[in-house]
Parts: sequence; C-alpha cells; structure tokens
Amino acid sequence: MVKIEGGKIKFNEEVKVKYEVDVLVVGGGTAGFGAAISASRNGANTMLVEKYGALGGLVTLGLVCYMAGYPEGIGKELLERLKEKRGLGENRICDPEITKYIMEKMAIESGVKILYWTYVIDSIVENNEIKGVIIQNISGRSAILAKRVIDCTGDAEISYFAGVPVETGWDLMDGYNQAVSLDFVMSNVDLNSFSSSDFYSTVQMKIEKAVKEGKLPRLVEKGYLGSFPNRPEEKTEVYVCTAHSRKCRTTDAEDLTRIVIEQRDQIQKLVEFYRENVIGFEKAFLSYTASILGIRESRRIVGEYKLTGKDIALARKFKDAIARDTHGFDIHNPIDDLPHIKHTHLSQPIEPAFCTDKEREDGRICCVKNNPKGKYRAYLKPGQYYEIPYRCLIPKKIDNLLVAGRCISTDFEAQSGTRLIMTCITMGHAAGTASALSIKENISPRKLDTEILREKLIKEGINLNKEPLCYVKGSPQDIPRDAEFVVETKDGEDEIRIKR
Ligand SMILES: Cc1cc2nc3c(=O)[nH]c(=O)nc-3n(C[C@H](O)[C@H](O)[C@H](O)COP(=O)(O)OP(=O)(O)OC[C@H]3O[C@@H](n4cnc5c(N)ncnc54)[C@H](O)[C@@H]3O)c2cc1C
Repeated sequence: MVKIEGGKIKFNEEVKVKYEVDVLVVGGGTAGFGAAISASRNGANTMLVEKYGALGGLVTLGLVCYMAGYPEGIGKELLERLKEKRGLGENRICDPEITKYIMEKMAIESGVKILYWTYVIDSIVENNEIKGVIIQNISGRSAILAKRVIDCTGDAEISYFAGVPVETGWDLMDGYNQAVSLDFVMSNVDLNSFSSSDFYSTVQMKIEKAVKEGKLPRLVEKGYLGSFPNRPEEKTEVYVCTAHSRKCRTTDAEDLTRIVIEQRDQIQKLVEFYRENVIGFEKAFLSYTASILGIRESRRIVGEYKLTGKDIALARKFKDAIARDTHGFDIHNPIDDLPHIKHTHLSQPIEPAFCTDKEREDGRICCVKNNPKGKYRAYLKPGQYYEIPYRCLIPKKIDNLLVAGRCISTDFEAQSGTRLIMTCITMGHAAGTASALSIKENISPRKLDTEILREKLIKEGINLNKEPLCYVKGSPQDIPRDAEFVVETKDGEDEIRIKR
C-alpha cells in the first residue's frame, strides 16, 4: 500500500528473497566480467546481475572498442579467445558483437549464473555489513542475499546505496566530471583511400577551421576512430569517439538526458562533416550509436587507500598491489574544449616522473590555471609502471563489500589512468578471488592476508612478481633502460615520447 503524506510517499513492502549465493557481482562490464569469473573459478557459488542484456558494459554496449591497458589473467585470456574467433584486430580493437558472445561464453563456462535485465535498486545493510541487494525486473521486485557483494556498476551504485562515502568530479574544475562521449559507428568507409595519418594531420585542421567558422560545435581536437577487425577494406565499419559534452554532472539523471540529446546533435553534424571532408568517407553513413552513454567518470568510492595522481606519476608500488599499469593519465577536459590532460602537477620535479615546466608549443593552457599543486607538469615516464593496492577496492564503513572497475577509491586524476579496460578486468579478477578466499577463510575481505591473495593471483596469471612491458601505441614493448624522453605537442595533444 502506497500513501502520500505531506509531499512524501510512504510505503511498507515485503520483498521475497529469490536467490541466495556466495558471491554476488553487480554490473556486467569489464570489471564485473573479471570478478564473476574469478569468484566462480575459486569455488564460490556466483551470480552476476546486469541491467542490460549483454556483458561488456562500455566496451560492447558503449562501443568503446579499443582494449587498452595491461593484459593479464582473465583479461589476457579474453584477448586470446577474441583472436581465435577473429574478433580482435592487430590494433587491439574488438568487434563488439563477438566480444559480447565470448564474454558470456567464458562466464557460463566458469559456472557463473547470469541474470540480465535486472536493475539493483538498493543495498541491504545490517550492522555495517552488506547482506545483499534489492532487485527490480520484469518479474517484479525481490532480494538476493550474498555472503560477499562486488560492486562493478561503474557508478558505485551499490556502495552509494549502502552508505559508503563517495566522491565525484574534479575539485579543481568546479566538481565537473570528465567529458562524456556517445560513440557511434559509420559504415561503408573505404579504408583503401582513408589514411589515419591524413586524418590526424589534415582532418583535425579542417575540424578547427569548421569550428572557427561556426560550422561545427567545438568537439575534441584529436577525435579517435578505429576500424573493426575482419571487415572488407573497401566497405568497412569504423567506430568513432569524437563527440564530447562538457560541464557534465554524471550522477544527475537530468544532466544525462541533456548530454545524450546534445551528443546526438553533435553526431549528426560530425557525420556530415566526415562525408564532406574525409577521404574514404564520401559514401559512409551513420549505422548506429552506442546503446549506453560513454561515461568516463562518475562516483568514486572512498576506500581504505585513495590512489592519487602523484602515485601514478611517481610510479608507486604497494605491498598489497593487485594490478599494475604502464599507461599514464588521460583526462578529457571537464570544462573546456582543450586537449586531453596527460599529466598531474608537482611543485618540484621528482624522479622517476618526467617533469617539465615548459609551456605548450602552441602557448595554450592545457590544464588548470595556476594549479595549486605546483607549476611542474609530471607524466608517468614510458617504461615505468604504477600499482593499484587492494585497499582501493575496500570501501570504508561497510563490510563484505568489494568494488572494482572505474569507481574504485582514487582521486580524479588517478581515475583517468586506472579506468582502462584491461585494468578494470584485472581489478575485477582480484576482487573475485579475494571474495572467494575470504569466504573460505571465514574472515572479512578487509582482513584478508594480502600476501596469500597476491600469491593466488600470481598463480592465476597476474604476474605481480614480474615487471610489465611498457604499453606504447597499441602493444606492450620493451623501452630501453637508458632512453631519454621529451614531451611533444602533436595534433594538439601533449605526448611523452622517446627522444629521437
Ligand atoms: C567514451 C569512452 C572512451 C573510452 N576509451 C577507452 C579506450 O580507448 N581504451 C580503454 O581501455 N578504455 C577506454 N575507456 C574506459 C573504459 O571503457 C571504462 O573505464 C571501462 O570499460 C569501465 O568498466 P567497468 O566495468 O568499470 O564499468 P562499465 O563498463 O560502465 O560497466 C558497468 C556495468 O554495470 C551495469 N550496472 C550499472 N548499475 C547497475 C545496477 N544498479 N544494476 C545492475 N547493473 C548495473 C551497467 O549496465 C554496466 O554494464 C573509455 C571510456 C569511455 C566512456
């Protein structure tokens, strides 16, 4: 019975417990995929709940098809399975449909019970312990009880419902979130005549000119596009990640509505622009836009440790590390139509970061004016890597809950690095293994012996005991130990490169 009283709705409801499992993973994106598989492989009765009808989250439903980050464990397995099925190109771009299929197959083979079309609407908490969640789907409302819950919603929804403290956006830019993009696919592109070097050198200039003449809304200087594997060269399909909305509040449904409408408008204009200006696109058309909005950053939990931009620049290592990456920062400017931000700021140069106080070549301010952190731009040096501690996956305040993916405990700058696809799978992998281990040992995941966890993860293919190869331009490579570096400004973007 629902009652209206003084502008508020009051209702008492009994909800049936429909499932009881060991480990419940909420969110079937890359992190949830890794988490559910590893929990199940480690003997836990595991359920994965996803609000849409496929696994992959941003990768598949969001058409973010470039699988960057360091591939280890389940992430590496996924890449191998995709290659076997001709679903992965040399450039690490995956076919989203083959990816949905393979992810689902791998989860089912590992014993995971998947429940699609199901939205988690609340967390069940007793004495600061999560006991399960309330779900809503076509069958109505019910509850799932679980010994451990892993929040892989990208937006930290389960943690937020449970009362975990969260943060969002960049305090240095009025709390706005990273720019949002709706990715889209253009078909009938002639790759024989299209050249990506042309694209980045000449097309971007044309975009600049069109913007100055008011023919295009200002988008991003370096639009990204990639061709799907195993399509005919003369009639191929490419996914495009160029449209950008700024000043976004990604935890506000009204703003998300504004953004998606704005994105569709940008995309119409961009498609016309590509057809008129880009060689190879003359006969191309817009075949579809992503089913979900490309949200790079929304809520981040406050956990037992908060990874910072400084940790990344200084390639920090941790005793309880569960994942690593060699890719630095990638902030899509929250407010201004300026190039991506690939650095943090320090008050003085500190090794091993690559630090410079040189102005950008085109004289534009690339970040926050008079950054309070200092005047030196600090980059993660190629060949260096940073680690993510297990404590970033453990939320403050609530027990038996772990978090993995783009919403772990970091500051805004660090999140721009940790959010990569392979890194999210590895974090999920670690959270799944940790959940299963903590059940076996009958202790809270917070109290788990991280040495035992790390040993287990190493056995499962996350090589925490070996240095990762540097990941540059599409694949891992060795960087000479005596290499010298410079920051070049190319196509409007700062890029740290080996000195030639
Ligand atoms: C436009 C864009 C471009 C990017 N480019 C790259 C790139 O080139 N390379 C790269 O490596 N990374 C890139 N990234 C980053 C990367 O794609 C993401 O950070 C990563 O995929 C996030 O994975 P996730 O599992 O944490 O979250 P998501 O992929 O967001 O998955 C979360 C899942 O949880 C589900 N969910 C959410 N709430 C609920 C709920 N209440 N109940 C049930 N289910 C729920 C969602 O439906 C979704 O499937 C990009 C991101 C964006 C947005």
